Amino acid sequence: MIKVDNLAKYFYLGQSFSEKIRRQEPKALRAVDGVNFTVEAGQVMGLVGESGCGKSTIARLLVGLETPTSGDVYFGADSAQSLKQRDRRAFHRRVQMVFQDPYGSLNPQQRIGEIVTRPLIYQRNKMTDSEMRTLAVTALQEAGLSPASDYLDKFPHQLSGGQRQRVCIARATVLEPEMLIADEPISMLDVSIKWGIIQLLKRLVRERRLAMVYITHDLSSAGSICDQLAVMYLGNIVESGPAQQVIHSPQHPYTKALLASTPSIDPAFTRETAQITGAIPNPLNVPKGCRFHPRCPIAQPVCATQSPDDRGAEGHYAACHFAFDSQPKTEELA
Ligand code: SF4
Repeated sequence: MIKVDNLAKYFYLGQSFSEKIRRQEPKALRAVDGVNFTVEAGQVMGLVGESGCGKSTIARLLVGLETPTSGDVYFGADSAQSLKQRDRRAFHRRVQMVFQDPYGSLNPQQRIGEIVTRPLIYQRNKMTDSEMRTLAVTALQEAGLSPASDYLDKFPHQLSGGQRQRVCIARATVLEPEMLIADEPISMLDVSIKWGIIQLLKRLVRERRLAMVYITHDLSSAGSICDQLAVMYLGNIVESGPAQQVIHSPQHPYTKALLASTPSIDPAFTRETAQITGAIPNPLNVPKGCRFHPRCPIAQPVCATQSPDDRGAEGHYAACHFAFDSQPKTEELA
């Protein structure tokens, strides 16, 4: 089990000369602000939210590309911070990442065989070239590139977008990690290819008992792959729970707004309209009370002064004063 415990990441801004003279505290951009969740082996946790909500910063924290301001990530009983201090290579054997851009995340000057064996070389194992080649072939084959030997000597520009993303997945799984972070892995692919990549990730999670964190702004793809969902807004998780419960019975107005903006191919399907206005606030100047209140269509005076606690039960929680009550509809307030 992977446990994210009260994870926070603040980026401190530089100070002007006059601010230093006046001994002002440096301003902090709160990208991630006290996030908790767990992911079991063989499960997919979806992190959903619009740009700037902090989901990609969480991905960077999980793979060790950023150091948390506070909080930690635990792999079983091992803390990621102490693991990294002891042995950074061993840490990267356990956690791997699939990036959003399959065009930018592959070195155009390396052949596919070199790209997929690179993590094995980085780990400085004692394998021979032919043993590494065998592992690369197996990883490519499992990623759906068959026959894999046909791809080993190709360059990335000779492959389609979907094939490149399969190479990225093979590179991430060749070390047999315990955790896979997939940061918007299908957002740059054609619609016809997306479904194949989702099916591939689902199969790898099931067969290898991987714990996967799937990051996306697209609730429809999250619904088809995730077991659990966490909806993020301005560095916080505002709603979490079993994916189908969050999608079919959303409690937070922000989750409702995200769902309302997701198109459905079923003409008979209707959802409550939840209009939100404006853009996500500046994370340097987080609103007091509920962070969502300047944009919330059902905000009440209490929302501007008091931060809501999580409400809910049986694994489905929402940080809203009125979650699980019968909330006033947007039209009624208007
Ligand atoms: Fe909206 Fe208030 Fe709930 Fe925040 S606490 S989401 S402002 S109703």
